Amino acid sequence: MLHRRPWVAVLVAVTFAAAPLLLLANHAWNGYHWARTSNPFTLKLGDNVTAVWDTHLATTSSDWSLSDVLDTTIVAGGTRPKSCRPTSGRVEVCNAKYGPTGWLGIAQIWVSGQHITQGIVKVNDTYFNTATYNTPAWRNLVMCQEVGHTFGLNHQDENFNNPPLGTCMDYTSDPTPNQHPNAHDYEQLRLIYSHLDSFTTLDTSAAVAQMPPAMGQIDFDTPAQWGRIVKGSREAGTSVHELDFGGGHKVFTFVIWAR
Ligand SMILES: [Zn+2]
Ligand SMILES: [Zn+2]
Repeated sequence: MLHRRPWVAVLVAVTFAAAPLLLLANHAWNGYHWARTSNPFTLKLGDNVTAVWDTHLATTSSDWSLSDVLDTTIVAGGTRPKSCRPTSGRVEVCNAKYGPTGWLGIAQIWVSGQHITQGIVKVNDTYFNTATYNTPAWRNLVMCQEVGHTFGLNHQDENFNNPPLGTCMDYTSDPTPNQHPNAHDYEQLRLIYSHLDSFTTLDTSAAVAQMPPAMGQIDFDTPAQWGRIVKGSREAGTSVHELDFGGGHKVFTFVIWAR
């Protein structure tokens, strides 16, 4: 574990023996995870991206597959890039010119109880086609972070202006060192996926079949449709939103805002 802030190191030293999970588990998203009966499990990433994004999706997929609890595999896309509808039991990855929405990228996960049942990632070419963001570093950071959210990971850091942590789960003004996961992310995944379930949500699962119909019928492109904000803000650079359908059914939206 590499921490740049001295107080974190002190905190680690003080609390490590007594409560190792306290710090190590600090960037899971409320424990949400894919249900599966064994590790490592394989999560399908549906390829709905154009050629310019293919290398970045491939990099992200192989980066995260270094985890010892999960592998990702790129499969034929199951949706149209512009609408980017979810497919149960997997993640659809899309790029398009979504317009001046304010966001560079979003990830959305559908959850039932503690379990993720489907997810999508969208990257917005309206911004990536501009000189500021049309770089491999920006594309890698955003792709890596949004796909990371679909595993149940949250950000490691939410301050845009402090030094980069060396992980794509940190949004920063300098994307160069933040294009890939770091050891702390893999550690976090190990913790999230340390238990096994008696069933899986990695296919067309019962959980998705029981989903309220409204959960699949909303166009989730704009903040007005994301529900209440539960973390961060547009001004801060990243935010997380929760849309609650009742009965433990929720859609979370993780947003990276353009600056
Ligand atoms: Zn579980
Ligand atoms: Zn994020």
